[in-house]
Amino acid sequence: MRTIGLIGGMSWESSAEYYRLINQQVRDRLGPLRSARLLMYSVDFGPVEQAQHAGRWDQAAAILVDAALRLQAGGAECVVLCTNTMHKVAQQIQAAISVPFLHIADPTAQAAVDAGTLHVGLLGTAFTMEESFLKQRLAQRGLSVLVPDEQQRQAVHRIIYQELCVGLVSEASRRVYQQVIDTLQARGAQAIILGCTEIGLLLKPEHSPLPLLDTTALHARAAVAFALADDNSDSGSAPAP
Ligand code: GLU
Repeated sequence: MRTIGLIGGMSWESSAEYYRLINQQVRDRLGPLRSARLLMYSVDFGPVEQAQHAGRWDQAAAILVDAALRLQAGGAECVVLCTNTMHKVAQQIQAAISVPFLHIADPTAQAAVDAGTLHVGLLGTAFTMEESFLKQRLAQRGLSVLVPDEQQRQAVHRIIYQELCVGLVSEASRRVYQQVIDTLQARGAQAIILGCTEIGLLLKPEHSPLPLLDTTALHARAAVAFALADDNSDSGSAPAP
C-alpha cells in the first residue's frame, strides 16, 4: 500500500470526510481491520481564507507548497489537496514536489464521462464557479459546464463559508441549493458537480432530482485507487526499512 498525503483544513469539516471515506474504502477492499497508510497536514484555514478574499493567491500558494513539501518529506507518495478552490494554485504545488499530485477535477470528469452526463452544473465557491482553473480542466475532458447566475452564485458561496465550513447544516440552505439545482436542470444540466468539498455534508442524492458528482467522494476514491494500485499483500505489513 502506498502512503497518501492529504493537505487538509480547508475546511477541516470536509477533511474529516476524506479521512473517513479513504479508510472505509480501504477496509472494504482489504478487510475489516485494514486502514489507509496516510499523512494529513492540516493548515489553519483562517490565513488561507483571508488571502483568497484579498486576492493574495501567492501567499495562499506558499502555505500549501509548504504543506506539500512537509508531506513529501514525511513519506507521502502522492499529494491530495482536499479543496476545490485551492486547486487554483495546483500548478505551484505540483511544481514544488516530485510525487504525483492527484488533481480533483480528473476523477470528477471521469465520473461524468462514465455516467454519460457530459452537460453538468457546477456548484462551489465563487472562485471555483467564476474562474477557469477547474472549469477548463473539466472542459478539456469533454464536459460542458453550467454555473448558476450571479445571485445564486452569491448564495451558494455565502452558505459554504458562513455555514458549511463552520459545521452548520440547515434545511433552509438545503432548499436554496435545491432551487439552484432546479434552475440548472431547466437549463440542460444532466448532473451536478458538488465542486466544493463541504457540499456533500448538505446535499445527499435523495435531495437532488439530478445525479450528484461529489468531488470529495470521487477524490477520496482516486486516492485509494492510487494507494492500492499494485497492492497484492493481504498482510498490510509495513515495508522493510
Ligand atoms: N472546501 C471548499 C472547496 O472545496 C471551500 C473552502 C476553500 O476555500 O478552500 O472549494
